[in-house]
Amino acid sequence: MEIYERLGVRTYINAKGTITDYGGSLMDEDVLRVMEEASHNFIDIRELHKKAGEYIARILGVEACAIVSGASAGLAVSAAAAMAGKNVAHILQLPDTSGMKNEALILKCHRTEYDQSVRLAGARMIEVGSATHCCIEQLEDAVTEKTAMMIYSAESEKLRGSLPFRSIVSVMEKYGIPVIVDAAAELPPVDNITRYLDMGASLVVFSGGKEIRGPQASGLVVGKRELIEACDLNQCPFHSIGRSMKVDKETICGLVRAVELFAGKDYDKELSRWKAISTEIAEALAGPYVHTRVGYPQMPGTEPRIIARAYLSFAGFEGAEIQKRLYDEGLIVGADESEIIINPQCLACGEDKKVIEMVSKLTEELYHEQNCRKA
Ligand SMILES: *Cc1c(COP(=O)(O)O)cnc(C)c1O
Repeated sequence: MEIYERLGVRTYINAKGTITDYGGSLMDEDVLRVMEEASHNFIDIRELHKKAGEYIARILGVEACAIVSGASAGLAVSAAAAMAGKNVAHILQLPDTSGMKNEALILKCHRTEYDQSVRLAGARMIEVGSATHCCIEQLEDAVTEKTAMMIYSAESEKLRGSLPFRSIVSVMEKYGIPVIVDAAAELPPVDNITRYLDMGASLVVFSGGKEIRGPQASGLVVGKRELIEACDLNQCPFHSIGRSMKVDKETICGLVRAVELFAGKDYDKELSRWKAISTEIAEALAGPYVHTRVGYPQMPGTEPRIIARAYLSFAGFEGAEIQKRLYDEGLIVGADESEIIINPQCLACGEDKKVIEMVSKLTEELYHEQNCRKA
């Protein structure tokens, strides 16, 4: 029996995207092979962290890279690096920040559940502006002698209360305050790896277990060498905040292979393939009760925004209800108030047909039930 069957754990078709709640993404066979290979030997984990980080930095064309146990861990370790740097006494003292700069500036509309990781390191979040408005003077005004970093949420960039990344950097550079970007799910496009760094970010955090398709518990922090070295000193095996966010040798090696595959992928082709799948699904499922369209997400939190989705609305039903019924059948989709959202990013070969089959079956059931009730 296979492991999930032995445990009595259900498996699903994932038409929602790289969502941690459902296992993130699936690794390539070759990534698994490398992880298995890595499991045969002892190494010095400090050397592996350093050399694998340097190798990934070269592949991605960035100055330096620290390998962490996820984007959330990346935020905690980056925040620790911004406050304690390479000072061993300070590293050991966190999350007690006495005697250190400990304020993390963040635009109010950039607050997310993930900034708890920044607070975990001991930082205090200082909100700037309101939910719908912020001006550069407010940002200038928020800088104090305790400011240790600015946190920028890439997915919130387009919100009304946000400020352009370049204006943020121009203020922070004046005071020598590092800017840390949460870009966990901002891939593709691949050039987002360097986009924020080119505009002056100090550190940018990505998940290894989303579109990079590395191990689920992996992540990358890329950026300035001095801060990346501080990140590594603020994580395992060093006694530090990041000691509890260990990355094992198999994960590090798997991530290296995943990054190689990711960097070699033809994303123009992949984006067209995804669009074709969404179009096929939308066309196959359109009918008298079901309105369908192909589009791109507008709201933050539904990254990556350049992958085309199929949007389906069912007459007389809310999105959440359809989502629940499909979940019960073993199909995971997204939903908003009026629609369900099908993201092809994690569909395996042939699963598009399965999605069409499952949604068609539900549609028949729904409107058969309704017509019977009317009769
Ligand atoms: C997924 C995500 C994270 C967390 O990433 P992990 O790799 O699961 O730790 C953090 N921030 C944002 C915006 C995310 O989408």
